[in-house]
Amino acid sequence: MKWSWKLGEIAGIGIYIHATFLLVIGWVGLTHWREGQSLEATLVGIGFVLALFGCVLLHELGHSLTAKKYGIKTRDITLLPIGGVARLERMPDDPKQELWVALMGPAVNVVIAAVLFISLFLTNSLVPLESMEMTSGPFWERLMMVNLFLVAFNMIPAFPMDGGRVLRALLATRLAYTKATHIAATIGQGIAFIFGFIGLFTNPFLVFIALFVWIGAAQESSMVQIQSSLDGIPVNQAMITNFRTLLPLSTLADAVELTLSGSQQDFPVVEGERVVGVLVQGDLLVALAQQGKDTPVSGVMQTDFETAEAFEMLQTLFVRMQSCNCRTVPVTRFGRLVGLITMENIGEFLRIEAALSQKKL
Ligand code: ZN
Repeated sequence: MKWSWKLGEIAGIGIYIHATFLLVIGWVGLTHWREGQSLEATLVGIGFVLALFGCVLLHELGHSLTAKKYGIKTRDITLLPIGGVARLERMPDDPKQELWVALMGPAVNVVIAAVLFISLFLTNSLVPLESMEMTSGPFWERLMMVNLFLVAFNMIPAFPMDGGRVLRALLATRLAYTKATHIAATIGQGIAFIFGFIGLFTNPFLVFIALFVWIGAAQESSMVQIQSSLDGIPVNQAMITNFRTLLPLSTLADAVELTLSGSQQDFPVVEGERVVGVLVQGDLLVALAQQGKDTPVSGVMQTDFETAEAFEMLQTLFVRMQSCNCRTVPVTRFGRLVGLITMENIGEFLRIEAALSQKKL
């Protein structure tokens, strides 16, 4: 994610913190200070935010380490003011595994809250809930309440919350995956609507959450629909076979000419029959501005790129392209370049398939 700093690594997973996080710390510090409180109170306020984010990080690690048990890697974890995001390489295909991955995040917060409760209880330092508030009250008891809030919030049965995944996984043990996702997404959007409606009259923050949930549900539903329509189709049925290539020694001027004379945006760079790189339009434009058009392509092309096999399934390639954020992937057969797959041409393929399936009805 842009605007994030790496804090470190845990179990091989990069932990990042988003810049907006500093805004929250600044805001908490400032409000405490402005309320005329002491430096100590301000520091405790900031300390509370840090402790809260520690709990969010442990929550995300709960997801990641469970996924790791099923052989799924986590690319990174980013801490944002609204919570954490663990980017798993993929979701498990088995609904039971998805259920565990989704549950183990909130379970971590249940454990933290339980540990805090027991130690507060044993030290006799529990205060009645009436005297507690979000921003004031004893530190550890407040942290316990916030962890319980995290559990409740994340278990809302709507995408992209963990509860939405739990619901889908439960449905998917009995129904087809697409159907389960569709039902879970519809329930999620229903909940988002109710949240938004209540929020209009009470708390604007609820409207914001509702919007977030609504978009998340719609995205998940359409993503799964795309994946199921790509099911069982090999890459070579959808790939572009009429395309242009560049040589490592071609210049950026050659690339510009090819770009303007056709509709292709990214070009495979070939040496003999082997693909040695991909020149993507974004890099081309940057290099044109910085180095001029006589620069050889070899210095600008991406050499660390994804390729696909002609007989690979389009569905798995699509998931890979999603996770590497690739727009164009060269397709090879026995190491020889035979085609290109782009996000646009997958979209075209889907529209054509949809039109053909309507004709049949
Ligand atoms: Zn979670």
